[in-house]
Amino acid sequence: MAIERTLSIIKPDATKRNLTGAINARFEESGLAIVAQKRLHLTRAQAEAFYAVHAQRSFYGELCAYMCSGPVVVQVLQGESAVTRHREILGATNPANAAPKTIRKDFGVSVQENSAHGSDSPTEAQREISFFFAQTEIVG
Ligand code: UDP
Ligand code: MG
Repeated sequence: MAIERTLSIIKPDATKRNLTGAINARFEESGLAIVAQKRLHLTRAQAEAFYAVHAQRSFYGELCAYMCSGPVVVQVLQGESAVTRHREILGATNPANAAPKTIRKDFGVSVQENSAHGSDSPTEAQREISFFFAQTEIVG
């Protein structure tokens, strides 16, 4: 067990429905601390670069358009086993398959509009955090 950092994004479907606080309460109640945070409207280029790993997937174009469709809140979460813990709190990608009491089960609209993003590994977390934040913007 170790203290880790991971990237969280509250997606446009959730900011649009005023769910930022409700989602962040889940993280804080679970012992994850928000150590960096900003509200952004992603450009298409930013969305494409962030999700470049999915460039060959059929949903890539629609995903990038959706991620630019409204404000997002990007943030760094810190805590014990934060990468895995965060993914557990989010639930499965498709809200229909997500476990009870997870964020995607309770707030997700569809497999695309699933309310929040979480890094899937420590390596990916490092890339995603540095995509949005300078070290000086992360205050643990
Ligand atoms: N996504 C989608 N259709 C799919 C699978 C994924 O629109 O069939 C979207 C969804 O918003 C998801 C994101 O693409 O969160 C990234 O997909 P990934 O497989 O990495 O899921 P995640 O890691 O977010 O659970
Ligand atoms: Mg993923």
